[in-house]
Amino acid sequence: MRSAAIIVAAGTGSRMGRPKQFLALGDKTIVETSLDAFLQLPEIERVVLVLTAESLKEHGPRLASERVKTIEGGETRLDSVRAGFGEIPDEIDVVAVHDGARPLVTPAIVRAVIEEAYESGAAIPAVPVKDTLKKVTNKQLWISSTPARSSFWAAQTPQCYRREILEEALQKFPEERDATDESQLVEKAGHRVKIVPSSYENFKVTTPEDLVMAEAVMEERRGGRRRAAVGFGFDIHRLVEGRELWLAGIKIAHHKGLLGHSDGDAVLHAAGDAILGALGAGEIGLMFPPDNPKIKNIPSADIIAAVMAKLITAGGVLSHLDITLVAEEPRMSPHYEVFRQSLSRLFSVPPERINFKAKSHEGLESVGEGRAISCYAVATLLLPA
Ligand code: MG
Repeated sequence: MRSAAIIVAAGTGSRMGRPKQFLALGDKTIVETSLDAFLQLPEIERVVLVLTAESLKEHGPRLASERVKTIEGGETRLDSVRAGFGEIPDEIDVVAVHDGARPLVTPAIVRAVIEEAYESGAAIPAVPVKDTLKKVTNKQLWISSTPARSSFWAAQTPQCYRREILEEALQKFPEERDATDESQLVEKAGHRVKIVPSSYENFKVTTPEDLVMAEAVMEERRGGRRRAAVGFGFDIHRLVEGRELWLAGIKIAHHKGLLGHSDGDAVLHAAGDAILGALGAGEIGLMFPPDNPKIKNIPSADIIAAVMAKLITAGGVLSHLDITLVAEEPRMSPHYEVFRQSLSRLFSVPPERINFKAKSHEGLESVGEGRAISCYAVATLLLPA
């Protein structure tokens, strides 16, 4: 899958009195913090940053790079999205469209929505509405009805689409300029759009008080008032003839592989259990019962996607993952870097937050005799206090 992103930051900030995207948030600006979440994902090939003419002149040269193209936006949000879409190469499969004013999006949320869009065609992050909604259709503010809250979700970004679906929606409604998101055009064009449960922290910075809350979340993320939680995971699988060998999401050339209901990837199973452990959320076996025929031979990357979804909705981030694989064969050290890159991708964290090492079992017992491979994992999470 090839992916790219459009970050829209061409609003004039009517509610803040000045363009909010370049207000300071921590030691960066709002829009740079938004951009960072995307640049942390190596698979996003290009980011088109859509700015006002003024900010393009002032900040464009500093923000542009090999991966980041800065361009001038249009009058409305949709005009800007259209301008950004013009810079997306034809070979891209999935396009993410993000509000530059949602700086608290995490790489894990971005990746979860992109992957869902690749599967389903169109996907957006959203959270269940917390407040009871009142419908008011008159200027005197009399309530006309109270819809059932349970069926309402608040839409966020990045909204992600297969390229051709977004293209069709943008082309089909050229007169449409006031839509507040692209999803409504995609829905109107007759496509189904899937919700990916997101975090309440991915809110839009629209008013001065939003900025205060965003600062507080950033401060927490820097470790301030976040609670560190450590989880441990272990897994072992038999090593047998006639199976592919999958470890850390990578297929290794070997004459034996791990026996299991899924692909038997002991590294991902131990890592998944370590994260669930730190979340206090049980184990992967409860989410994917081995007797469920649906999980037969599923890639363990799917299990990790489900674990990461739990981490996102808990408002947590993976701070560090330390893996110890125990195997007599094949030799693992040539794969260390590939494993680390793969784990970095699967867990949406930079590779320096992943440690991978392997030990032999000195010829002792099943693992030492080459009849099994086992794995230990320790995950450190930062969770809302
Ligand atoms: Mg297992």
